Amino acid sequence: MIKIGDLQASAGQHVFGFLKGPRSRSGLHGDVPVHIFAGTEPGPTLLVQGAVHGGEVIGSIAILRVVKSLDAKKLRGTVIAVPVLNRIGFELGDRPNKIDGKDISTLFPGNPRGSFSDQLAAIYFEEVIRKANAMLDLHAAAKGYERYVLFTVERDPKNPTEIERKRRKLAVAFGLDTAAFFPPLTFGTNKSEEAFEREGIVFFQPEFGGGTGWHENGEANVRDAARGIWNTMRAMRMVDGPFESDGPLCTIYNANVVLWKPPLDGLFVRLKKFGDHVQEGEVYAVLQDPYTGREIAPMRNTKTATVIPSGLEWPTVGATSVGILGEIDEVVDRRTADLYVDFA
Ligand SMILES: [Zn+2]
Repeated sequence: MIKIGDLQASAGQHVFGFLKGPRSRSGLHGDVPVHIFAGTEPGPTLLVQGAVHGGEVIGSIAILRVVKSLDAKKLRGTVIAVPVLNRIGFELGDRPNKIDGKDISTLFPGNPRGSFSDQLAAIYFEEVIRKANAMLDLHAAAKGYERYVLFTVERDPKNPTEIERKRRKLAVAFGLDTAAFFPPLTFGTNKSEEAFEREGIVFFQPEFGGGTGWHENGEANVRDAARGIWNTMRAMRMVDGPFESDGPLCTIYNANVVLWKPPLDGLFVRLKKFGDHVQEGEVYAVLQDPYTGREIAPMRNTKTATVIPSGLEWPTVGATSVGILGEIDEVVDRRTADLYVDFA
């Protein structure tokens, strides 16, 4: 028996309902749609979630596809599937929760006395996240084609912790040909990642292209995201069946260079593409006036490295990363690698 809010599922059951979220002063709510699949045999708990960034719907569609064909009676352990975490952002097609403008993904473990998003993060962390052994958080940032498995932060890649080792395995098992991790503090404080780690949760977040314009490569991305969810269940020994992937090799990058947009808005024109080797000081992209075509600023690379999937976000508005570069840390051959992750 597993309980989430008012929902409960017994062995062999698929239950759907809403986890009650906070209310805004005008009565808007962020109740979270939750599917629970309670397996008939013991096993770990996998949380699969989409649209914590409201406009990133590839994962949502993939999750619904998996929900349709997953059979609780043939499952070991429990799958919690949340197609849309940030409902208000989702309905308005935008990344943050529009009520307070916050990015929910950065707020865990949440704050019951904070604003709407902080409260939502606190309820969701307590009721959902803490019940999971592994958390698969599906993203689809950027308008251009961007597709890789990000497994967040590694402090010392040569000397990984137990959780970091499991994270790397699940990232490879997911099935894309590219994966990456960031050095600590690359993007903000890593507050959420640290909260997951304290709970012993193996957290990773595949990125698919498309953003709100998901029709571009949409079907291929949805298919690969759904395939990745099944692969994750296989790696956790929750379902049987062979792994499916882009191919035998998964290249893992240490994404240790992030290029930030200058404090100007404009039309971003990227001159380098995935796989290009870029020297320190070389022009990576230019920012143009979108009406006259006049060059506003060149964006130079800060450290010699290889371009990894970075997306093509234009026009740019506000503070945003416009390039992610790094070095190959490891190339894993799935034909010989052990992709299984066991949870006590
Ligand atoms: Zn995202």
